[in-house]
Amino acid sequence: MTLSKPWLHQYPPQIPKTLSYPDVPLTALLTDAVKQYPDREAIHFLGKKITYRVLLEETYRFAHALEQIGIKSDQRVAIMLPNIPQAVIAYYAALFLGAIVVQVNPMYTERELLHLLTDSGANTIICLDIQYAKVEKIRSQTNIGQVIITSVSEYLPLRKKMLYPFTQTSIPRIPKEDDVYSFQNLLHLVTVPTPIQTEKQADDLALLQYTGGTTGLAKGSMLTHRNLVVNAHQASAWMYKTREGQEKILGVLPFFHVYGMTAVMNLAIKLAATMILLPKFDRDQILKTIVKEKPTIFPGAPTMYVSLINHPRIHKYQLNSIDACISGSAPLPIEVQDKFEQLTGGRLVEGYGLTETSPVTHTNLIWDRKKDSTIGLPWPDTECKIVSMETGEELAPGLIGELYIRGPQVMKGYWNRPEETAEVIKDGWLATGDLAKMDDEGYFYIVDRRKDLIIAGGFNIYPREIEEVLYEHPSIDEVVVIGVPDAYRGETTKAYVVLKKGMSATSSELDKHCRENLAGFKVPRLYEFRDELPKSAIGKILRRVLQDEMKQKKQE
Ligand code: AMP
Repeated sequence: MTLSKPWLHQYPPQIPKTLSYPDVPLTALLTDAVKQYPDREAIHFLGKKITYRVLLEETYRFAHALEQIGIKSDQRVAIMLPNIPQAVIAYYAALFLGAIVVQVNPMYTERELLHLLTDSGANTIICLDIQYAKVEKIRSQTNIGQVIITSVSEYLPLRKKMLYPFTQTSIPRIPKEDDVYSFQNLLHLVTVPTPIQTEKQADDLALLQYTGGTTGLAKGSMLTHRNLVVNAHQASAWMYKTREGQEKILGVLPFFHVYGMTAVMNLAIKLAATMILLPKFDRDQILKTIVKEKPTIFPGAPTMYVSLINHPRIHKYQLNSIDACISGSAPLPIEVQDKFEQLTGGRLVEGYGLTETSPVTHTNLIWDRKKDSTIGLPWPDTECKIVSMETGEELAPGLIGELYIRGPQVMKGYWNRPEETAEVIKDGWLATGDLAKMDDEGYFYIVDRRKDLIIAGGFNIYPREIEEVLYEHPSIDEVVVIGVPDAYRGETTKAYVVLKKGMSATSSELDKHCRENLAGFKVPRLYEFRDELPKSAIGKILRRVLQDEMKQKKQE
């Protein structure tokens, strides 16, 4: 029983307190958009425009081609692509076929990729030509039957496409093997894009979205079609001033991350909006794109807004097309919020969510009122409570405990991990691992993280994973990794190292070792060598003591 739901009283009349969600698979968002707005631009990619009608046709063609090469319902299809049109086509095509999408960050190293592919049991991977060598190296240790390769240039306008080979340092040779296909060739296999009726129901699995955890290895959050449909509906209800068929959403957040997937790709399709795709974060290009393409909605992470407002010539850019921005994944500093709002004349509000909740559960009201340093109110149909870590009881407003969430966007569980699922989902409530409090009006505040997650530049870094890599170095006796404050990335990683007696290692040697085994954003930026690390009575390294030391130093 929740104590009350004071947040519902704060809703403006335009936001319903509860929504009715259609009982449909996620693919219905796309077919509905096409029914109503076939000629509306769905994708704008560096000058290339694709309408909703064409997007659906290409998706059907690709789905038929996937079927022809043997992909079946419930098989796992890994998509390892940046924000390019093929990422949207592949995602929806796999879902039309009834397959389960496994999203993969293209920055992952062989080791990380191997874990995702073996854990999910993926049969197929779709990746860029420049990533092929990485896939090929580990492929024999996985179930991957077919590899589909594409290039950033495939959907570029003709002139840019012709220039593309000259802008690349090395385009690898792709072998002509039976089970390595080119995305373009597959699309051409099918000339008539006959519609596909997916057999999947709302409660069937759509996605395995990998997220780290206390075990150090990433786990696949099982998100259903319903979870994803619900979160897109909740988002559009919250953004009640948005107009179907008229918005333009800036797609800088990567679609392989749950936040970009929902807040850009699925929301855009729900609103029949144009997604302006940018395959990487390049602030000059982003600012030029805003001026030229005039997006109205810009979901982002705090570091993105920080980077833009600190651009030396920011005042030269006309940013006033931007109306609404939701910032998530980490706390949003008030100064950043204020400055960005002054520059754009639109609203930038903080929200909150996690992979396990598809992801959004809370946001501030966009046009109605402003409260500082809060993640805002729970979205419609999202119940929340603060639970005491000592007693497990629900706590009164103002008291700090763990945030629990129950709602239609909460995942089914972790893929093949019943024990870990039971640890986080209790009686339908998801224990978020975040420490929070609620005020009398039902606004929530994140106080600290229970888990040891480090968020650097919007990317999640799980210290255990880095520690495991460092422990493999022959000179290391003990190591602990913590997040330390960083003016630009919010947090950055620092490793405290104890070397084995008689052994030596420099920070640059350890850096090299980490770079070989981890994506660049996870590699520790700082090293400190010590004779010993603080430990509890049972010998557990006390991460918290080191974190407190850092806080102390910062205050001095
Ligand atoms: P992920 O599963 O990658 O989406 O990461 C989820 C985690 O990001 C949450 O459990 C929080 O610890 C953190 N997070 C998300 N939004 C916020 C926010 N607005 N303020 C503080 N932490 C946040």
